Amino acid sequence: MDIVVIGAGYAGMSAALRLDRSHRITLISADDNFTERIRLHERAAGRPSVSTPLADLTRGTGIRTVAGRVTGIDAEARTLTLEDGREFSYDTLVYALGSFTDASVPGVAEHAYAAENAVALGERLREGGGRLAVVGGGLTGIELATELAESYPRWQVKLVTGAHPAAGLSGRGRAHVAKVLARLGVSVHPDTRVEAVTPDGLTTAQGPIEADVVVWAGSFAVPELAAKAGLAVDERGRTLVDATLRSISHPDVYAVGDAAAVNVPRAGLSRMSCAVGMPIGAHAADAVNARARGRAARPFRFRYLIQCVSLGRRDGVIQAVRRDDSPIELILPGRPGAWVKELICWYAAGSLRLARLLPRSYWWPK
Ligand SMILES: Cc1cc2nc3c(=O)[nH]c(=O)nc-3n(C[C@H](O)[C@H](O)[C@H](O)COP(=O)(O)OP(=O)(O)OC[C@H]3O[C@@H](n4cnc5c(N)ncnc54)[C@H](O)[C@@H]3O)c2cc1C
Repeated sequence: MDIVVIGAGYAGMSAALRLDRSHRITLISADDNFTERIRLHERAAGRPSVSTPLADLTRGTGIRTVAGRVTGIDAEARTLTLEDGREFSYDTLVYALGSFTDASVPGVAEHAYAAENAVALGERLREGGGRLAVVGGGLTGIELATELAESYPRWQVKLVTGAHPAAGLSGRGRAHVAKVLARLGVSVHPDTRVEAVTPDGLTTAQGPIEADVVVWAGSFAVPELAAKAGLAVDERGRTLVDATLRSISHPDVYAVGDAAAVNVPRAGLSRMSCAVGMPIGAHAADAVNARARGRAARPFRFRYLIQCVSLGRRDGVIQAVRRDDSPIELILPGRPGAWVKELICWYAAGSLRLARLLPRSYWWPK
C-alpha cells in the first residue's frame, strides 16, 4: 500500500515512524528537517538549533522523505501536488500539516515577528535594546515573553493580552506566572485588545502601546488545504475525523495533530499541542496498520494529566489537570517545574528517535 504522510511535525513524524514498514511510506514536508516547535522560543533566545534532518530520523526505516510544499490535494483522484509541480499518488493519506501563527490582525504580517521567525527575531534582539511587546497571554506568549526577558535584559518587555496571562491555569499557577513575570521585569497589559500592529508598536482599544519590536502569539490557524480539497472541516478549517482519526468525508484520509479536530474522550475537542498531537499521530498509524491487516481499528484514547509552561530556563509551572483538561489547585513551580518541562520536551523528540529503531515504543497516557 502507498501511504503518504504530509507534514513532518510531531504528529506526522509520530505517525510515519509507527506505520508498518511493509508499506511504501513517503513523508513530504515543507523542508527536510523536523523542527521542535515547542522550543522555538528557546531558539529565539539563542539556543543553537532545534531542528533534526529528516534523513537522520528516518535512516534505515525505508521511509522516503521529500522536501516540498504541498499546494493541492485531489481527494477524489488521491493525488497531491507540490509547489514545484511534482505529483504524488496515495492509497492512504495522513494529513499532518499542523498550524501556524494567525496573522489576520492588520499589520501582523508586515510588522510583527512570530515563533516561526525565531532565528530572525533572535538576530534582531541581539542588535541592541529597546521596547519589546509580546502579544498573547496564552502559554506560548508567556513562554516567549519570559524567555526573551531573561535572555535579552537590554530589552524592556511588555506582555499584552486581551484577558489575563495564563487564564487557563489554576489560581496558584497564575500567581506563580505573575510572580516570575514581575521578577523578570515584564510589564503586563491585561484586558487590552490589539486592533493593529504598526511600525511604531500597537494600536489597541485602550490607546497606543509603543514598541520597537512586536512578537505576535495571539492565536493559531490551520492551513486551508483540507477545506480546499473538499474534506469535511470544522469552522477553523480542522479536518473532522471519526474516533479512529479517519476523515468523516474521505475514508482514505487520516488527519492528525493541530490540523485535525479530534474528540478526546471525556474532554472534548483536542487541545492544539504536541502533548496530544503525538498520541494522535501514533494512534492514526495503529488504525492504518490494523485496517491494512484486515482488523478493526480501535477508537482513540488519551488522558490529559498536566499542562506545562516554561518561564525562562530556570523556572516553570507544571499544572495538574482533570481528565477534561481543566486545572486543579496542584502545581509544581520553580526550578523543579523547569526540569520536568525540559524532560517532556526531551521525551517528545527522543521518542521519535527511538521510534526509528522501535516503531511501537512511544507511550502516552490513556
Ligand atoms: C513557542 C511555542 C511553544 C509551544 N510549547 C508547547 C508545549 O510546551 N507543549 C505542547 O504540547 N505544545 C506546545 N506548543 C504547540 C505545539 O508546538 C503544536 O501544537 C505542535 O507542534 C503541533 O504538532 P503538529 O505535528 O500538528 O504540527 P507542526 O509541529 O506545526 O508540524 C507541521 C508540519 O507540517 C509542515 N507543513 C505545513 N504546511 C505544509 C505544506 N503546505 N506542505 C508541506 N509541509 C507543510 C510544517 O513544515 C511542519 O513540518 C508550542 C508552540 C509554540 C509556537
